[in-house]
Amino acid sequence: MDFRLSDEQIEFQQMVRKFARNEIAPLAAIIDEEERFPFESFKKMADLGLLGICVPEEYGGVGQSILTFCVVLEEIAYACAATAMSYTVSSALCGHNLATNASEEQKRRYLPELASGRKIFSIAMTEPGAGSDVLSMQTFAERKGDEYVINGSKTFITNAPVAEVFLVYVRTDRAAGPRGLSLLIVEKGAPGFTIGQPFKKMGMHGSPTSEIFFGDCRVPVENLVKGENQALGILLGGLDFERTAGSPLGIGAGRCALDMCVAYVKERKQFGQPLMMFEMILEKLANMSMEIEAARLLAHKAAWMCDQGIRCSAEASHAKLFATEMGMRVASEAVQIFGGYGYMREYGIERMFRDAKVGGIIAGTSEVQRLIIAREIIKRSMS
Ligand SMILES: Cc1cc2nc3c(=O)[nH]c(=O)nc-3n(C[C@H](O)[C@H](O)[C@H](O)COP(=O)(O)OP(=O)(O)OC[C@H]3O[C@@H](n4cnc5c(N)ncnc54)[C@H](O)[C@@H]3O)c2cc1C
Repeated sequence: MDFRLSDEQIEFQQMVRKFARNEIAPLAAIIDEEERFPFESFKKMADLGLLGICVPEEYGGVGQSILTFCVVLEEIAYACAATAMSYTVSSALCGHNLATNASEEQKRRYLPELASGRKIFSIAMTEPGAGSDVLSMQTFAERKGDEYVINGSKTFITNAPVAEVFLVYVRTDRAAGPRGLSLLIVEKGAPGFTIGQPFKKMGMHGSPTSEIFFGDCRVPVENLVKGENQALGILLGGLDFERTAGSPLGIGAGRCALDMCVAYVKERKQFGQPLMMFEMILEKLANMSMEIEAARLLAHKAAWMCDQGIRCSAEASHAKLFATEMGMRVASEAVQIFGGYGYMREYGIERMFRDAKVGGIIAGTSEVQRLIIAREIIKRSMS
């Protein structure tokens, strides 16, 4: 067993750390305040090859491992959680999905656009009536000649207000339950496709979210991924990766909050002493540090398993659940350590607290992760 990153991964980490601190971090408060997408950061990330990190080289990407993606995402999340969230959805979730499931023609058409940053991508599963129970989705696509005609809507779609390509899960067989789902690529501008106004959210202001609507929306049959009624396999096949890929968000943001706290407790004096002289403050720092380290170990183990092609349903959920709940605990303790200043916008800590909350909701809520873990350990105990 070897816990060290490879020389290449360390090189990537150093390069992204420097870039993220110089180029992404200075925009974090601005995009939060202005509630706008960081197009300028995405352009620079494309130039460095970061947008195509999950895309094979023959389609314009840099084809890195899932572990390397986790290392990169942690650095971006350290600088700005909202940028990291939009990046994860477009580059990792959509990039990995298309690289794994799309036809040769679809890969040649869409992956270079994603990797170059010419187009931002979204992935749409959730509906107003189908959240945790996502397989009960009702948005329906009917084949008519050379086209699919889609009717229905999706909600809470990350990047939708700025995206040009959408991977949309739809129902194509009303009677077949979870086996009646298909995946379609829908481009902005398709007839009958409309994008809602950005939602006003608690946090992640720089990562826009909206509804999308399909009213007799027509897309060519060539936009079907894999085959009709094949989306359950696509969904299930991508879950380990998706949960693992979400974990570094909490880890990077937590590490940033801890570093800010360490600097603050050396400076801030009360009762004639810096805060670092108080044992209850030191206990908080120790717990934050331990939890961040534990979350990273879980995430890297799950990433390593994904890279080896080992099914890791429980391990990926351990990583996602622990990292996102840790992110919330660390952000909350950081506000506490900063006291009243932590509650004020100026210091950036309250933004981290608002941003952290979404981790336990997206890509399977914390309750759903606990269900998956418990069911998996019972299943393993019987095999
Ligand atoms: C900012 C943001 C971005 C998002 N981005 C995307 C995106 O890009 N694409 C996309 O498709 N979706 C996206 N989502 C949607 C997200 O995946 C859903 O919000 C999530 O799956 C939960 O669904 P829901 O909100 O309908 O909650 P519900 O499913 O209604 O759950 C409500 C509560 O009940 C609990 N619950 C539900 N079922 C059970 C159960 N069986 N046992 C115990 N507790 C249960 C839940 O854990 C939760 O606490 C996003 C959401 C947000 C907030």
